[in-house]
Amino acid sequence: MTQPWKDRIFTNLGTLPLRSENPDDGYTVEDLVSHGWAPGDYIGPCRECREFFVAAKRSRRCRPCAVKSLEAYRNRPTWRSGHDGIPTDRPVWAYFYVGTSIDEGPVLLLRGVSDEDGEEFTVDYEGRPWDRDGHVVCWIDVEERPSLSVEAVDAIVAAMGAWALYYSGGGDHIVEDWLHREALRAVADGHRDAPAIAAAALKSRELKFSRYYG
Ligand SMILES: [Zn+2]
Repeated sequence: MTQPWKDRIFTNLGTLPLRSENPDDGYTVEDLVSHGWAPGDYIGPCRECREFFVAAKRSRRCRPCAVKSLEAYRNRPTWRSGHDGIPTDRPVWAYFYVGTSIDEGPVLLLRGVSDEDGEEFTVDYEGRPWDRDGHVVCWIDVEERPSLSVEAVDAIVAAMGAWALYYSGGGDHIVEDWLHREALRAVADGHRDAPAIAAAALKSRELKFSRYYG
């Protein structure tokens, strides 16, 4: 049986310093610590690339791999409030306001292609395109169906502040009531971020818009 890690030791062990320092390249120790690296004098293998490196004892990654992880985190797709910047040439996930109806909620998590104004969202319905009318509340450019997160709730609340521009104040409080129910559902379901989701949802109460059901 081969032991590739042994070869690694012999290829790079002799070149390792006794102690690592953080170079002045823009990435601080604070930046990198949550991605698994801090300077120190302990030797161990990187869980990512398997190279041996010298760092603080609890470091999981070598510095290049920690930098890569930090950059991937910084460039990850994030929820964007409203329809600004939404691609119109490919599907994205969006919380889409469809208004009130008997058999659907007022806001649906849909995958579809938006128009430029974020007011028409074309979804696939049993193999056929279905244009949903309403408004993009927030969107994220990912493949897999996202779940409700604090980041999503923040984006939804931010959209509510600007909602009056599109609906003269008509849709905001409907979205708000829906969001507060979703936050309650997160609590009931034991979502691990439920307290943070609920706190983020309640921030909508600071917004001033009509809460009149006419
Ligand atoms: Zn590495």
